[in-house]
Amino acid sequence: MALRKIKQFDDVFLSKVSKPIEEVDDRIREILDDMVETMYHEPNGGGLAAVQVGILKRLVVADMGTGLYKLVNPVIVEKIGEQTVVEGCLSYPGVWGRVKRPLKVVVEALDEYGKPQRIEAVGALAKCFCHEIDHLDGIVFKEKVFEYID
Ligand code: ZN
Repeated sequence: MALRKIKQFDDVFLSKVSKPIEEVDDRIREILDDMVETMYHEPNGGGLAAVQVGILKRLVVADMGTGLYKLVNPVIVEKIGEQTVVEGCLSYPGVWGRVKRPLKVVVEALDEYGKPQRIEAVGALAKCFCHEIDHLDGIVFKEKVFEYID
């Protein structure tokens, strides 16, 4: 495993759209493990998308305190309700803002062995999944902030 450097601020990578994974192989598992290590290395690391470490693949890792998730080709298939949350991003250190997100989401993805998984996420985990899956489409949370917090 290795720490990866996180792309920050106006890096052009952050606005790029990531490509789907065709085969979940050792190479993909290695990237996921590196992403996990990089996320845990950061004091506020609750989630990380591969694009943030310069890899344009649809990979997300997340841990909001309820367990580690490794998502390959994640898609939000259901959104329920709404919550106003405070978000930050490892690519924008020191920036915090209020964002509206669904209260609950259902995410379908492959796991690190290519097996389909379906995850129901509520509250902080739902927020996290939305934020990270946005990254895969080149969307950063700043585009959704309606109020910044000093
Ligand atoms: Zn982010």
